[in-house]
Amino acid sequence: MPAVTQSVPDLLNPLKQWEEICQQCGECCFEKFADKRGRLHTSTIACRFLDVATRSCKVYHKRFDVGQGCVKLTPEVVRQAAWLPADCAYVRYMRDTHNKDDN
Ligand code: SF4
Repeated sequence: MPAVTQSVPDLLNPLKQWEEICQQCGECCFEKFADKRGRLHTSTIACRFLDVATRSCKVYHKRFDVGQGCVKLTPEVVRQAAWLPADCAYVRYMRDTHNKDDN
């Protein structure tokens, strides 16, 4: 019998499980700019709702309602979002999941 690796509440709440992947580094909350070669760089300009000291969003539970262009990260968005940092927990999760599927 395979080992149980998830608790029952996690299995019943995939959204919570997805959101817990985020390590709250706040890197995605800084504006990005492209250089002459089209490579994206992270600026020092943070979203006005980011607490830069704690790296937490001040309006997290209503972030999609405040009209600041906050993007809901889904697996599909993460796969296509070149603006997410390579060390974003979601990017690593999707890369690891994809690599696992290839094996
Ligand atoms: S960059 Fe990724 S891990 Fe960091 S806060 Fe944004 S979504 Fe979370």
